[in-house]
Amino acid sequence: DWSINDFEVGRPLGKGKFGRVYVARETKTKYIVALKVIFKEQIEKYKLLHQLKREMTIQTSLHHPHVLRLYGWFHDAERIFLILEYAHGGELYGELQRSGHFSEQKAATYIASLTHALAYCHEKHVIHRDIKPENLLLDHEGRLKIADFGWSVQSTNKRRTMCGTLDYLAPEMVENRPHDYAVDNWTLGVLCYEFLYGSPPFEADGQADTFRR
Ligand code: ADP
Ligand code: MG
Ligand code: MG
Repeated sequence: DWSINDFEVGRPLGKGKFGRVYVARETKTKYIVALKVIFKEQIEKYKLLHQLKREMTIQTSLHHPHVLRLYGWFHDAERIFLILEYAHGGELYGELQRSGHFSEQKAATYIASLTHALAYCHEKHVIHRDIKPENLLLDHEGRLKIADFGWSVQSTNKRRTMCGTLDYLAPEMVENRPHDYAVDNWTLGVLCYEFLYGSPPFEADGQADTFRR
């Protein structure tokens, strides 16, 4: 079993709502990973244990070149640690910010990678439900990796929980109707537009306007 003593922890890579992520090196093998650290207090406060368990079991079961690997996990008294594949290139969001928008060639390559990864997930009845540029990471060779399975679910039934991020929400989600894997496919169109144009198609000043658009 792993413990924090097996790792040398380096610089922070990013931070989400509940987790901070650090680059780390397994001391014996020198293998570089990313450690996602989540405080148990937060899990209890926001009742996220069920969701975190899903993230762990679902992501562990997925093995695809464009899906970020989750190698394992461990915990101590205060924290839960997820051992993740390290994505050296960081968020696709950052690359899009730096370039403004992508060439057709580059956009097509990312969309193809994402499409293959989603087809693989959907074949296993896994819906990601939070595809957006912050959750798409790039490895050292610029290959796209789907990350953050915190909203994912494995099911063949229609789902009812509203989740995801406003600019990427499918109409059925916006209207609070039952949804399925098609909500991930919707994001392919949104991202295709955003990659070529530089901002997502339904962006507006206020949330209500994005909903309406
Ligand atoms: P949350 O569920 O809190 O949104 P994420 O898993 O999305 O947490 O991680 C938050 C951020 O940390 C990501 O958007 C990214 O910038 C960074 N990050 C997460 N995992 C990795 C990784 N394996 N390699 C590099 N950066 C990562
Ligand atoms: Mg995230
Ligand atoms: Mg998450």
